[in-house]
Amino acid sequence: YQAKRGGQRTATYAHAQDTADVDRLMLGGELHRAVAEHEFVVDFQPIVDLGSGEVISAEALARWQHPEHGYLTPMQFLETVERSGQLSAFADAVLDQALSAAEIWREASFDLPVAVNVSPRSLLDPRFPATVLARLERHGTPADRLVLELAETLTISQLDVVGRALNELREAGVRLALDDFGTGVSPLSVLSHIPVNQLKIDQGFVGTVETSSEAAAVIRSTVDLARSLHLTVIAEGVESEPQRHALWELGCVAGQGHLFARPMSSARLLGTLQRGSGGRPGALAAPLH
Ligand code: C2E
Ligand code: MG
Ligand code: MG
Ligand code: MG
Repeated sequence: YQAKRGGQRTATYAHAQDTADVDRLMLGGELHRAVAEHEFVVDFQPIVDLGSGEVISAEALARWQHPEHGYLTPMQFLETVERSGQLSAFADAVLDQALSAAEIWREASFDLPVAVNVSPRSLLDPRFPATVLARLERHGTPADRLVLELAETLTISQLDVVGRALNELREAGVRLALDDFGTGVSPLSVLSHIPVNQLKIDQGFVGTVETSSEAAAVIRSTVDLARSLHLTVIAEGVESEPQRHALWELGCVAGQGHLFARPMSSARLLGTLQRGSGGRPGALAAPLH
């Protein structure tokens, strides 16, 4: 988990500050204040039907509106939060904001499921399933409107514990996605323990789908696997129309990325949905055919 953050993510987020610097600035109860003062905010990135260009759901992405250091991305603070005593408060604040946003969109007639990222460490907390279900109930949100995105970074010994918690949530109707699919060590053992509904293809493969036959092969086999297990597939980091076409040709029918929209506030996303594309509210791109 650590190694992955340190390697792959640093390369992706070139603008991020050195993690060591950020760790230092967080000493002295900064996280406690951040939670208490509602400094953690959530942006939302639409997930789109690649064929029709219509928005089918949205992913919640946490940011820290820091009073001195400005807008911090997860790369800059997530590890510190995960190691702190504030993880459950942070996770609950994100879930609360995500469900509130979905409620507002639903009232405006855009009934979109919302996807929330979950830290592996949260899953090891025995109170996790009950906390999530209590949040859903407080918002009056049907459980199937929530997708939990899990990183494929759990160890085999953790899978047993985590599998039980996730089965409880699945039985209640919550949906589960495997994030960054293709980057983990043992996706098949994860799939045998965790009842997932969706696979999210890592942007590393999506970014080279047109130029790398290996990337295309990974995507094609992920789509095949998903078909035989009755799962849906979402491509992350779709940045161009040629990538959109290539994904579609490989059988991948959903995606998110800068081609369609960057993460934005829930209010802005609502405006974007209402405006739509080509006179079609709820769409962000022209249909493919
Ligand atoms: P992720 O879940 O894989 O989210 C996708 C990341 O790709 C987001 O980065 C998003 O802004 C970025 N992205 C979206 N489209 C494009 C594109 O077209 N090109 C490129 N280059 N990037 C794109 P972000 O928001 O910085 O989040 C990074 C990671 O932090 C997330 O990766 C997720 O693992 C984690 N994260 C974010 N919010 C939360 C949270 O509330 N809780 C937990 N536990 N983790 C979170
Ligand atoms: Mg995610
Ligand atoms: Mg991902
Ligand atoms: Mg990713």
